[in-house]
Amino acid sequence: RAAEGAPLPERASEDSGTRRKGASLEVVGLDMAYGDFKVLRGVNLKAEAGSITCVIGPSGSGKSTLLRCLNRLAEPAAGDIRLDGRSILRMKADLLRRRVGMVFQQFNLFPDHTAIGNVQLALRKVQGLPAAAARRIAEQRLAEVGLATRMRHRPIDLSGGQQQRVAIARALALEPELMLFDEVTSALDPELVKGVLNLMADLGRSGMTMVVVTHEMNFARRVADQVVFMDEGKVVEAGPPDAIFGNPRSPRLQRFLSEML
Ligand code: ADP
Ligand code: MG
Repeated sequence: RAAEGAPLPERASEDSGTRRKGASLEVVGLDMAYGDFKVLRGVNLKAEAGSITCVIGPSGSGKSTLLRCLNRLAEPAAGDIRLDGRSILRMKADLLRRRVGMVFQQFNLFPDHTAIGNVQLALRKVQGLPAAAARRIAEQRLAEVGLATRMRHRPIDLSGGQQQRVAIARALALEPELMLFDEVTSALDPELVKGVLNLMADLGRSGMTMVVVTHEMNFARRVADQVVFMDEGKVVEAGPPDAIFGNPRSPRLQRFLSEML
């Protein structure tokens, strides 16, 4: 793993974007509220460059809000978020969104565009690339996620798993330093879940820094470098998967796991 100083794997493509370099992430004392309702209450989190952090916890515990703060879709009331040691909170939100990619449960693809159109559009809008260059990169990214033969399909003609791969390819095309995944397999038919999880595991091995909100406990156990358990807007417990799943300390985590498994 990159975290251990190992070299990143070489890829077949000549494009430099496929050798990923994730940033380290540090969240310090993060508070966020909707009106009077405190959704995040002093969240602390550290993730090494190239590591995979899985965030678990009950519905309503603030997991999505945390991710939304990490790419500035939501603005925290207090605290700091640092990528490679530098605060992102004083950075312009649209600049920051080029460095942090996010994939959602509901894909959020443009229905009137083909798979390649969706990826191309992001490259043209966000990076201002000319059409030909955007097309070349989009083709590479879609091939990487296993969609070489589905590029001209519209979302409605793709399975849920394929649509989610397009969304992942679109985020990857912008070469983010940090990738956020919010329950990306929750809307998929059961037989499609495994393929998307395997793709995410591959991405993690390529040196990307990833924060993954998931209900897939087996994925977290197998793939995560650290697991973070949130409840009521706080990180209640964090540690390596063996400790979180094998030896949970807090009663709340013990209860959560007994209800999940
Ligand atoms: P999770 O992803 O863990 O289920 P969320 O971050 O989505 O949790 O939500 C945390 C809490 O914040 C929930 O109680 C939710 O109802 C509330 N919340 C989320 N979004 C909004 C919003 N836009 N306005 C008001 N309350 C919200
Ligand atoms: Mg959520």
